[in-house]
Amino acid sequence: MSISGHSFPYWQRPQRTSLEHCLLYAVSSMRVVDFHSHLFARPFFEALAAQSPLAGTVDEKLASVVERTGIELPSADIASHTRRWLAELDAKGVDHLVTFASAPEEIAAIAQATVLANGRITPMAVCNPLIDGAAAKIDVLLTEKGFRGVLLFPAMHRYSPSDAACTPLWQVLERHRAVAYVHCGLLVVKLRDLLGLPRDYDLCLANPLAVVPAAGAHPGVTFCIPHFGAGFLREVLLAGAQCDNIVTDTSSSHSWLRTQPSPISLRDVFARALDVFGPSRILFGTDSTVFPAGWRAERLAQQREILTELAVTADDQQRIFAGNAEVLVRAPLGHVGA
Ligand SMILES: [Zn+2]
Repeated sequence: MSISGHSFPYWQRPQRTSLEHCLLYAVSSMRVVDFHSHLFARPFFEALAAQSPLAGTVDEKLASVVERTGIELPSADIASHTRRWLAELDAKGVDHLVTFASAPEEIAAIAQATVLANGRITPMAVCNPLIDGAAAKIDVLLTEKGFRGVLLFPAMHRYSPSDAACTPLWQVLERHRAVAYVHCGLLVVKLRDLLGLPRDYDLCLANPLAVVPAAGAHPGVTFCIPHFGAGFLREVLLAGAQCDNIVTDTSSSHSWLRTQPSPISLRDVFARALDVFGPSRILFGTDSTVFPAGWRAERLAQQREILTELAVTADDQQRIFAGNAEVLVRAPLGHVGA
């Protein structure tokens, strides 16, 4: 890849006064692959605004979101939007972005961004397996457009990952050795809230344990349960202990921590996940979405600090911050665990 990943210049290197500082410096020069991000191209905004029950045209509804929040509406020109993201990756030392088409209407734009990004972006497509022809459509994206997996919302689309209706999709993914991100736990899509779209999600369908039957039956698919289960920590640990092909990602602000009956820190969560999943089945992610926030470098910094405090070795940190993702998306990014 074209950048080094160094996060601070020579004169700002921390002094080597402790083992912890040594390790922190060692990991600061590592490759970084963000395994969970949303490019949120203009068609995503327009698709949600078109579904919104609020008054006004699509443009008026989006103008209101911009005015209320300061969120920048992405350029309608996907080349310009992609260039902006690539400049952001360069500025913040990110080697590679795994990113979602978060609505069906956005898939074409994300496919285009992938071509324009020249190897810096790996795309994943949102999918509702209950829609006729869904598996065949994903097959085409995986075969012809460089997509490496799907993003699933069982609680939003009202199905269980263990339903027979999902089998054709699992078969396609297995043939491609692809990834299925299965969103479990709390589901908050800020833009949907801002546009007045109802949170009509059935969280009974958001339990990581529902992924276990599919993962057991389809060992060639890697099932990623994001955000440590987003509230279902115990369940994601059980699912991970049961199935080797279930992994988790570290993305998001982890606001779900507030929902736990006993106080728990993100550091505790990492410690529990390391114990059960081990460093080869935890993948770094940010859940970056929009500008002006851009790529969430503070989440990388926080997670580096936690893993260093937990005395995770530089090799294992490199797996979490890049190596595991490189294997899954087959990105041409050098050898794993260097
Ligand atoms: Zn996300």
